[in-house]
Amino acid sequence: MTDYAVHEHEEFLTAADEALADPSLQSALSMLADTLGQRNKDAFAELSDSGLLRDRARAIKDATLAELDRHLETLEASVNRRGGQVHYAADGADACQTIAGIIRAAGGRHVVKSKSMTTEEIHLNRALEAEGFHVVETDFGEYILQVAGQRPSHLVAPAVHLRIPQVAKILGDDAGEQLPEDAEKLAAYARRTLRKEFARADVGISGANFAVAETGTVVLVTNEGNGRLTTSMPRVHIALLGMEKVIPQLADLPVFLKVLARAATGQKLSIYTSMITGRRQPGELDGPDEFHLVVLDNGRSRILGGPLRESLFCIRCGACLNACPIYRNIGGHAYGGVYAGPIGAVLTPLYSGLTHHPHLPHASSLCGACQAACPVKIAIPEMLVQLREQLHREPSQANRVENAIYRLWAAMLRRPRLYRLATWLATRTIGRWPGGWIRHLPGLGGWTGARDFPAPAPESFRDWWHREGQA
Ligand code: SF4
Repeated sequence: MTDYAVHEHEEFLTAADEALADPSLQSALSMLADTLGQRNKDAFAELSDSGLLRDRARAIKDATLAELDRHLETLEASVNRRGGQVHYAADGADACQTIAGIIRAAGGRHVVKSKSMTTEEIHLNRALEAEGFHVVETDFGEYILQVAGQRPSHLVAPAVHLRIPQVAKILGDDAGEQLPEDAEKLAAYARRTLRKEFARADVGISGANFAVAETGTVVLVTNEGNGRLTTSMPRVHIALLGMEKVIPQLADLPVFLKVLARAATGQKLSIYTSMITGRRQPGELDGPDEFHLVVLDNGRSRILGGPLRESLFCIRCGACLNACPIYRNIGGHAYGGVYAGPIGAVLTPLYSGLTHHPHLPHASSLCGACQAACPVKIAIPEMLVQLREQLHREPSQANRVENAIYRLWAAMLRRPRLYRLATWLATRTIGRWPGGWIRHLPGLGGWTGARDFPAPAPESFRDWWHREGQA
């Protein structure tokens, strides 16, 4: 199984270099930018009030998180009223144990799953397989990745890094037969295979895009319909909810459904919006006998009280990935965590520890395209700068050369004469560099390894001002 976990800056650089040199990946990523990225822009442009809608979504998130404890209590009471059970999990291991315990208690063995990044975050499949359960992903992209032994590389298009011939090979090798390089035929093959899994599954596990506190409703947004089968065919349904996904009332839901579909895929609404309110009630024809909602903390309550609280506004639409010039060049696996792209560069250090992922806050040009694309206007560049600052204060991450440069810079800014002398020297030496770009900096090759460094202007602003002022 390919392990893409990247823990070192050097590993990130190597993974990024490999991604840049992979023509198949590059072609897949350029299609992503041309399709999802453009559709997102077009879908929001159609609305006369898209700015207001996004502000509204952001305001609901902000207000909900301010009273998250109260909304979670309401949610629990609502779920209980409909015969469901709520379980709280402090971290990933706790959630995995809780879910395994529910399956065991129900005498389950065959598990089907609908797409859920939160289950990826806690490595649920690995934990359940270690307990002897048979677990099958039923989202087409996730199914391909499970067969291939790979992690998702995008929040909403998990197998976006694979082209059709690669998918045919992966599924064909697994089936022991040659499969056609044709998307529809491959989807038909997966549908036939997965139907058998649905028929024998005793437990269905889903994530939750939202959970409505006042009604106890779990909302799933998909485009394939597998979420409906996962939550209604097996006799037990377990939903894993990141605790920040709760919204207070049903009236809030349309706001999020509108922005999520537009931001994720450019649709007005996703094809399937499933609203699941507890287990099957008397007189209902289908639905599970048991419904369990597992509410996951895994660092979220710590983040809630910190300066990067806004990261909990994220509705996992993937728009910031599609807009990001870094993601669009290196894809998702190089980031090394479950969450990729600009928001992944914030979430992964927050969930797994900044010093384990020192490369991520730097995997951004801070151009702001992510914030502009985000349906809840999360200030991702600002958060990345804050993480860089925290990293800079970490003794284990100290970079002597960088620190010496910063100290020198600070000393110059405090001494106007020294600053004037330094700029005078710079404009008269490297400011006259041929072509205006420096292609190699001695001792600082990392800066110029993949890009040129702009030479200082041949005349400082101060000199220009002085000269023009005299005129
Ligand atoms: S940060 Fe914003 S754009 Fe990125 S996935 Fe989250 S909600 Fe979507």
